[in-house]
Amino acid sequence: MADNHKKIVVLTSGGDAPGMNAALRAVVRVGCYYGADVFGCLGGYQGLIDGDIFQLFPDSVANIIQRGGTMLKTGRCHPFYEKSVRADCIKFLKKSAINHIVVIGGDGSFRGASLLHEEGGLHVIGIPATIDNDIHGTEYTLGFDTATNTALEAIDKIRDTASSHDRHFLVEVMGRRTGFLAVDVGIAGGAEFILTPEFPIPTEEIIEKIARRKRQKRSTTIVVAEASSKPGRSVEIAEELRQHGDFDFKVCILGHTQRGGCPTVFDRKVASQMGQLAVNALLEDKSNLMTARIKGELTLAPFPDIGIDSRRLTDHDLLELDKILAI
Ligand code: ADP
Repeated sequence: MADNHKKIVVLTSGGDAPGMNAALRAVVRVGCYYGADVFGCLGGYQGLIDGDIFQLFPDSVANIIQRGGTMLKTGRCHPFYEKSVRADCIKFLKKSAINHIVVIGGDGSFRGASLLHEEGGLHVIGIPATIDNDIHGTEYTLGFDTATNTALEAIDKIRDTASSHDRHFLVEVMGRRTGFLAVDVGIAGGAEFILTPEFPIPTEEIIEKIARRKRQKRSTTIVVAEASSKPGRSVEIAEELRQHGDFDFKVCILGHTQRGGCPTVFDRKVASQMGQLAVNALLEDKSNLMTARIKGELTLAPFPDIGIDSRRLTDHDLLELDKILAI
């Protein structure tokens, strides 16, 4: 690698996701390996406002690869939407001779990063991390594999009790704007119905299908994507279903359990690779890009377009497959 005197600041921003720590570890260790000075910034963009940065060494990130959450803390920072506040952050970074930034977070965090590039000429690289896996331009975001496995473990347990008691269950998983988590855990958990924000199924259709099943089947698993910033959609759906048919429906909301826990092998591996790729890109003075997985390959890609709905949509074919498998 060419330049070994760069100063890189790394921060985690937005919602936490398992694998953020593994990515942070890789950024610090790869950066140090090539002779860069790496700094951590505490609490997302708020740390830039407060000047809350400190140097990180290979030892600083020992024993975190297996931990969920983020050692740097994360959060949402409303003042950062103000141009004048960002200008102060840019001034602070330039005064500290820091021109290179790694932002580990979701597409909102990347919008902030992109503005640091546009308004301050800083070199920014994003590492996509959100359990929703819905960032446009990458097939994978850190945390998704861990979250699906956490949710699947819960669904397997619920199926045990559902089948023993002949019960119908709605299991609500996260997924504010898209149903990636719902679709994958629905398929893997053998759910009879998967309710996503993108492809809703009318209540009457669900009742009709439960009532007219060809196979003798007395329990049902319906996986529901949260489809909102607040959990609880499945409670309303259960009520609607009760009103339309003769069945009772139990509800289990998995909530924040899906955000925590030890990252899976896949998340740790991809986080390590994305961390390396991000640092390599900064050492070559690349900017305004994110690490991405495209057709199974790790690469750099542009940030999602600002101003358009940058959601990636779930695969409708998988929902069709579930309908066949769940007969
Ligand atoms: P995520 O990164 O998980 O999508 P958010 O959308 O909440 O989460 O964004 C995280 C943070 O990124 C925000 O609290 C804010 O500090 C910053 N951010 C998001 N969008 C913008 C924007 N348009 N301009 C400036 N900063 C932004």
